[in-house]
Amino acid sequence: MASNRNLLMLPGDGIGPEVMNEVRKIIAWMGKKRAVGFDIKEDLVGGAALDKHGVPLSDDAMKAALEADAVLFGSVGGPKWDTADFSKKPERGLLRLRKEMDLFANLRPAKVFDALVDASSLKPEIVKGLDLMIIRELTSGVYFGEPRGRHTNARGEVEAFDTQRYTAPEIRRVCAVAFELARKRKNKVLSAEKANVMYTGVLWREEATKLHKESYSDVALSHMYADALAMQLLRSPKDFDVIVTDNLFGDILSDEASMLTGSLGLLPSASLGAPDATGRRKALYEPIHGSAPDIAGKGLANPIAQTLSYGMMLRYSFDLGNEADLVEKAVENVLAAGYRTGDLLVGGKTDGIKKVGTQEMGDAIVKELDRLV
Ligand code: NAD
Repeated sequence: MASNRNLLMLPGDGIGPEVMNEVRKIIAWMGKKRAVGFDIKEDLVGGAALDKHGVPLSDDAMKAALEADAVLFGSVGGPKWDTADFSKKPERGLLRLRKEMDLFANLRPAKVFDALVDASSLKPEIVKGLDLMIIRELTSGVYFGEPRGRHTNARGEVEAFDTQRYTAPEIRRVCAVAFELARKRKNKVLSAEKANVMYTGVLWREEATKLHKESYSDVALSHMYADALAMQLLRSPKDFDVIVTDNLFGDILSDEASMLTGSLGLLPSASLGAPDATGRRKALYEPIHGSAPDIAGKGLANPIAQTLSYGMMLRYSFDLGNEADLVEKAVENVLAAGYRTGDLLVGGKTDGIKKVGTQEMGDAIVKELDRLV
C-alpha cells in the first residue's frame, strides 16, 4: 500500500531476521485491517552487510536511513565476525547509524506485564503494574568526551583517562524529550545526576530546572543523585514515571530497570534525534537484546521485544497511539493466555502455559489483534 510513511527495515544478524519476520506479519495486518501502510525499504547491517559489502553498513543503507521517517532495526553481531577489524565490527554499523542520524535520546521503557510478574527478581507487589521510561542521553558525555586515552605519566605509571563533558544545549534537548513524553504519560520527570560531586552534574541540574521553568512548568520535576536512584529503583520503582539522565548513568540505570521486568526478549527501545522543520524526528527502534547466536536459526527467539519496538515506532514516529495500544494489548493478552517462548519459562510453572516458538508467538499476536478489533 502506498503511503507517506517511509520505513527502513534493517533485520541484521542472528535472531534479528527471525523476529523481524514476525513483525512483517503485524505490518501486513495493519495494512489490511487498519489501513496503516508503509513504504518499506530493506537493507543489510552488521555481519550480513560485512559479508556482502565489506563494511557493516553501506553508504546506500546510511542514505536510506537518513531519508526514512523511521528505521526498524533487528540486531547485529555473532561469533563469525568476532575477529573482524575493530572498525569493521558489526556493532560499528549501529554506531554509525546513531551518530549520523544524531540520535541523542534513547528511550527505554520498563513495563511489567501482569502475567510475568513472577519473572522479576523483585517481589510481585513491588513490580506489579510497573510502567516507567528511562531516557538516556546517547551521543555525548564520558563515552565521547575529549581528551581520552592512555599514556605513561611522569611517574612512569600507565594511566588511562576519559572526560565527562556536556554542553547546556545537549542537556536541554534531552530534557525537553523527557518533559514532552511525560505530558503524554503521568506528567512526572525525575532528573538524575551527581550534582554533589561533578561539575557536569551541577550544570545538568541547573539546565533541567531552567528549561522546566521556561517551558514545562505544568510537568512535575524532581531531582535525585544517580546512586540514590539506583537504590530507589529496587526499593520502590513504581514511584517513577519518566527518568532522564546522562549517557553513563543511563547506561547502567536502564539495564538495572530492564531486569525489573524479567526477560531481555521483552524489551524494546527507541532512539530519537532532533525535530526537523515539520516536527518529525529521525528515529531508530530496536529491541535491547543482541543477536542471540546461541538460539539463532532454531525458531526459539522471542519476537515480543521486536514487536514492541514496532509499537513504539507507531506511537513516536507516526502518532498512531491507538494502533500502538492495540499491539501492546495483543502482547499482554497473549502472555495472559499463557503463551511463552523458552526465555519466559521461569520458576518451572506449567499450569496453563503453552510453550511456543518464534512463529507461533508471532501468529498468536496477530490472531489476538484480529480478536481485539
Ligand atoms: P544477547 O542479547 O544476544 O543474548 C543474551 C542471552 O539472552 C542469550 O542467552 C540469548 O539467547 C538470550 N536472548 C536474547 N534475546 C532473546 C530473545 N529475543 N528471545 C529469547 N532469548 C533471547 O547478548 P550477547 O549474547 O551478549 O551477545 C550476542 C551478540 O549480539 C554479540 O555479537 C553482541 O555483540 C551482539 N549484541 C548486539 C546488540 C545489538 O544489535 N544492538 C546488543 C547486544 C549484543
